[in-house]
Amino acid sequence: MEVEVFRDVRRDKGDRMKTVYGPVPSWRLGKSLGIDLISSEKVCSFDCIYCQLGEKDEKTVKRRKFVETQKIKSDLLDALDVVKNVDIITFSGMGEPTLASNLKEVIETVREISDLPLAILTNSSLLHTRDVQNALNRVEKVIAKLDAPNEDLLQQINRPHPTISFLQILKGITEFRRRYDGELELQMMFTDENKQHARELARLAAKIKPERVDINTPLRPSPTKPLSKSEIKEITEIFDEKRLNTISVYESNKIKVETIDYKETKRRRP
Ligand code: SF4
Repeated sequence: MEVEVFRDVRRDKGDRMKTVYGPVPSWRLGKSLGIDLISSEKVCSFDCIYCQLGEKDEKTVKRRKFVETQKIKSDLLDALDVVKNVDIITFSGMGEPTLASNLKEVIETVREISDLPLAILTNSSLLHTRDVQNALNRVEKVIAKLDAPNEDLLQQINRPHPTISFLQILKGITEFRRRYDGELELQMMFTDENKQHARELARLAAKIKPERVDINTPLRPSPTKPLSKSEIKEITEIFDEKRLNTISVYESNKIKVETIDYKETKRRRP
């Protein structure tokens, strides 16, 4: 099991660093420096039953600018001055990062100031739109959520905005896979609600052909109880039968990190 060890190395910068946090010891990404495009309260198109950020503050599919690109740029420059040995920069934070209408602009800005690879964690709800696909085409790794193999389970687990449907999500991921040259990972959160549906999810994954499937269960503080090691092992074996490359949260290694700001990191990764 992953153990997160933080030591706060924040300097006296008041609120200046708030859009950049971590590094986070990620079981999928190594030492990941986070960029939060939402940044204040949680804003998401889903309200997942296991969400570590708590109950929804705002559920929306309307894209808008939450934080100025220049603010993110100066926060990142400050962070890169002090954090060393980071493996990747990841767009993730207080909600769904593709809701940020300046996502593409921010990606281009980050490219100008850092050679680190970029990743994004998305809940896949806006992947069917061309603007989001075009933005995500510019990062090396897209980690796209797929927890449900049908509409009923999507409603039960992810509790999406009323305009979002399972078929729209599936179409978005499939279409994006065809257009995208980078590494596509599917992230699947398994709980009691969907553990009996691993076979259907493995079939869908085999059709989508991601580079990897991340088999997860809520080990961090969450309203939903995690599955046991043996339950996750059984699920992983189902995916192995389909010859899918998998990683499970229980297989990950311990990583030590020193964060820029422990409080801000913990707010996004409790
Ligand atoms: S998609 Fe992520 S941020 Fe949004 S509700 Fe689900 S777990 Fe929370």
